[in-house]
This record gives sequence, C-alpha cells and structure tokens, in this order.
Amino acid sequence: MSEQYHIQTKLLHNSHKVHQETGAVSVPIHHSSTFHQYSFDSFGDYEYARGSNPTRKALEDVIADLEGGTRGFAFPSGMAAISTAFMLLSKGDHIVITEDVYGGTYRFVTEVLEKYGIEHTFVDMTNHEEVEKHINPNTKLVYIETPSNPTLKITDIKKIVAIAKTHNCLTFCDNTFLTPVFQRPLDLGVDVVLHSATKFLGGHSDVMAGLAVVKDVEIGRRLAFLHNAFGSILGVQDSWIVLRGIKTLQVRMNASSQSAMTIAKWLQTREEVKAVYYPGLENHPGKNIQEQQSKSHGAVLSFEFPSRFQAKKFVENVKLPVFAVSLGAVETILSYPATMSHGSMPEEERLKRGISDGLLRLSVGLEDVNDLIEDFEQALRTLKD
Ligand SMILES: *Cc1c(COP(=O)(O)O)cnc(C)c1O
Repeated sequence: MSEQYHIQTKLLHNSHKVHQETGAVSVPIHHSSTFHQYSFDSFGDYEYARGSNPTRKALEDVIADLEGGTRGFAFPSGMAAISTAFMLLSKGDHIVITEDVYGGTYRFVTEVLEKYGIEHTFVDMTNHEEVEKHINPNTKLVYIETPSNPTLKITDIKKIVAIAKTHNCLTFCDNTFLTPVFQRPLDLGVDVVLHSATKFLGGHSDVMAGLAVVKDVEIGRRLAFLHNAFGSILGVQDSWIVLRGIKTLQVRMNASSQSAMTIAKWLQTREEVKAVYYPGLENHPGKNIQEQQSKSHGAVLSFEFPSRFQAKKFVENVKLPVFAVSLGAVETILSYPATMSHGSMPEEERLKRGISDGLLRLSVGLEDVNDLIEDFEQALRTLKD
C-alpha cells in the first residue's frame, strides 16, 4: 500500500501508522487469546490467537510490505521460522543447501530433517555448476543465505533462482544479514524469505523473533496452515518490540554499514590480521554481485588471526564490543564462530568452511567508529606483548 514512499518513510508511515479505532500512534498490544464472534454464522478476522492476533498481524503486515511480499508470518525465533518453512517439504524430498549456512539451520537439516526422510546436499552456492550437478529428480528446494555466516560469501540470488526454477524447485533465502532495507530477495524470484528478527530487525538485543515472507498466495496459504498447525507463533509483547525496532531499521543499518566498511578497510592495513572478509572490500570475490543485488555491504564482517591464541588475546583486551553470540544490534558484538554460532558443527566440517580457530566475527553497532578503531588498535598492540 505504501510502495510510493522511500523505505525510511515506509518504516514509519505504513498501514499500521495509527490505530483505526483509537488513533493510537503505537500499535496496541492485544493481550487476547480469543475473540468474541458477533455473528453465529460468520466469524470475524480474529478467532483464536494461535491463528491470528492483531498485534502479531501488524508486524506480519509490516514485514510483508517491506519485503514486497503478500503475506508475512511471525515466529518466536529465527529457527522457528526456518524449521516451520522446511515443513513445506515432504518425506523423500531433497534439499540443495549452502555449505556455509547458519549453524542452527545446519543442525536442523542434518539432525532433524534427515530423521524424517528429507535429505540434503551441501554445496558451494558460488559454484553454479556444482549446484546444478547436485539437483536430483527429488530435489524440491534450494536454500541460500547471503551474505553467508561468518565468512561473508555472496550468492548470486538471480542465478540460483533461475537454476532452481528450471528444475521446479522452491528457493528459500535467509535475509537476516541485510534485511529488506538492503536486499529484497522476493523481487529476485525467491519464494520464501526468512529472518532472524532477533538480529537487525529487532536491533537492540532485547527480543527473540523470526519472520517469514512469501509472495505467492498458494505458498502463503500452505505456510499459514503450518504456522497454525505447529503453533510456533510470536507473542504480542515481542511482536510490539520488533515493530518498534523496525522503525529505526534504515538509520541503524546505514550507520552500522558505513562503520563496518571503515573498520574492514582499517583491519586490512594491520599486519597482525591475516585476512578480512567483507563484501565491500576490493579483493572480495563477491563484491560485484553484492553491489548488483543489494544496496549495501552490510554491518557484519569477519577477520582472521593466524591462530586461536591471538584471537583469544584480542577478545580479552578489547573494551567496547560485547563478546557474545548474536549480531545486528545497536551495540557492537564480537563473536567467536568456532565455539559460538558454529559450535554445533563438527570440527572437520567447520574448518572445511573456512571457520578457523583464529576467526572472529564482528557485527558493528552504533558507537562512534573512531572509538571502535582506537579500542581495536590498543587490543592489537597487546598481541605483541
Ligand atoms: C541468528 C540467526 C538465525 C537463527 O535465528 P534465532 O532468532 O537465533 O533463532 C538464522 N539465520 C541467521 C543468518 C542468523 O544470524
């Protein structure tokens, strides 16, 4: 409905800008599990809150609008959204999935779906021949995540969608790292967009939530059925917190991404750092594709020390970032993928994916970038001691 506005205006002036009945400028929190039916014969929009609740619906409408979809779904975590979307598949189906997928998705695919007879093959999504080669007659889904976590590899969304469509496969895209502010996978032909709204959409490290968005009405109907069948729904307080976070999404994303670029370039000049992974850097192999399909390079980067020893010392000496699992918050978050996001991955698999013992991931927040660099510089100096 608000296609005519630029995104930061849309974030504020959407269909839930004011509450129809009361004029409230903040979406009311409807703590109601069930809704009175005024007519014996025909029920209203809301019946029982597992199916739909006005507060959750407001968030679902907002994310659908931002992603250019027809329907959104709010879940209590990113993993709840991802695992429910996988239920669109059936026993005997096969998934082609990016090898550097989020650790929790890796765990779900390898340890849960496999048990129910849904198979998978991990591929390097940047190698299109390899993707095509692993599509079998029973392949029903190609699953992508771009930029990937934590090595920031870039998947060419349009190319993968074209390959998937040739073979009648669905495409899912985890859009957590960029959000619709920077990347809109549905516009590029993806069928289901998935989010951990715990990250940038919420943005303040204060809520866990997941979102799914579809464009196709029939897929939307099937996902709505699964959402209600699993009962994996986001509560109203948390829906409201995500809605509030989304209001500042673009200003946060822009500021953090700008700082990420500055920090990535600076880290590249440091001899203590073995490698820097950020799709905005000239030497990043995915830079061109990233710039074609997205509006920015994002706020997450990773960098590598020669060994665990230096990574540990850096983390112990840095003062500003929080050292924690997660990303996409107002405060800068430093994490150690080997034991955090990818702790559930066998060591051999992890190393194969370039997630070495010296790798750190940085999600840049809203601190003044000069303070961050000064802090990192003093921490790097301690490596020489
Ligand atoms: C965090 C994350 C998830 C999982 O989301 P939760 O909200 O933690 O369940 C999925 N994908 C990516 C890329 C993530 O960063």
